[in-house]
Amino acid sequence: MEKVAVIGAGTMGNGIAHVFAQHGTQVALVDVDKARLDGALATIRKNMDRQIKRGTLSESDRDAALARISTGTELDAASDTELVVEAASEVPDVKFQIFEQLDRTAPAGAILASNTSSISITEIGARTGRAEQVIGMHFMNPVPMMKLVEVIRGLATSDETTATVVEIAKALGKTPVEANDYPGFVSNRVLLPMINEAVFCVMEGVAEPEAVDTVMKLGMNHPMGPLALADLIGLDVCLAILEVLHRGLGDDKYRPCPLLRKMVAAGRLGRKSGRGFYDYAK
Ligand code: NAD
Repeated sequence: MEKVAVIGAGTMGNGIAHVFAQHGTQVALVDVDKARLDGALATIRKNMDRQIKRGTLSESDRDAALARISTGTELDAASDTELVVEAASEVPDVKFQIFEQLDRTAPAGAILASNTSSISITEIGARTGRAEQVIGMHFMNPVPMMKLVEVIRGLATSDETTATVVEIAKALGKTPVEANDYPGFVSNRVLLPMINEAVFCVMEGVAEPEAVDTVMKLGMNHPMGPLALADLIGLDVCLAILEVLHRGLGDDKYRPCPLLRKMVAAGRLGRKSGRGFYDYAK
């Protein structure tokens, strides 16, 4: 593919830009925050340097990939692309506004994809005049390392759009998996109830966090325990996704654990705040 626009240059946006640029695609990386754009370029370079150390990328390929990335603060950068991947903040109104504007600026044939973890693709699509070309392209963090791309079909997403996005994901060396648009898709629908149940185990005194994580690591062969993973994701993000599952599916089996709410209220958000189920201060 010749050119992609990536909207949002945070954790996910820089990873998505990295992977496209490394696979020969011109990338227009857009963020409202200029500092985020500079930070993204520095992060991409640092991550590519790691690949060079591991022997999976050459210096000349790194330089060529970095040269394919341009940055800007305006969505007009999407005016000549076949695909836009939106990875802006997980705030419904932010995404709706971006898609309304992209619908006006991107070429009529362009596919508009969102990397959202929990916002309805159907609802995002309905904000545009091209819902059949709106789709979820859910990359996993860290994007250059993780193989999966969950491809989410909104109610109106066409077979053609889905097939194109599946092919694009494969060309990036990823493994696409199709899912239909329901709250949490597959990944968070299955992961978050497990994390929530692990928090209930701690709240009810079934076991200490270390014990819960050790059971899941050694007993179930998970590379990381659910509570350590929750700390990595951010407990506020976990709570927000559980609220989406609870509200969207209307079933109390998704109710967020009161201990999770309490920890978020206390500012214990996990790694990013220095403390969650574990202490990262040291
Ligand atoms: P982040 O906070 O690191 O980055 C979001 C970026 O969007 C920020 O740089 C912000 O300045 C920018 N932004 C906000 N409004 C904008 C606008 N109107 N136009 C352009 N840029 C704008 O967030 P993230 O963790 O990279 O998450 C991005 C998306 O990816 C979210 O939808 C999230 O649900 C999804 N996601 C995140 C993860 C993860 O592990 N972090 C995994 C899968 C999917």
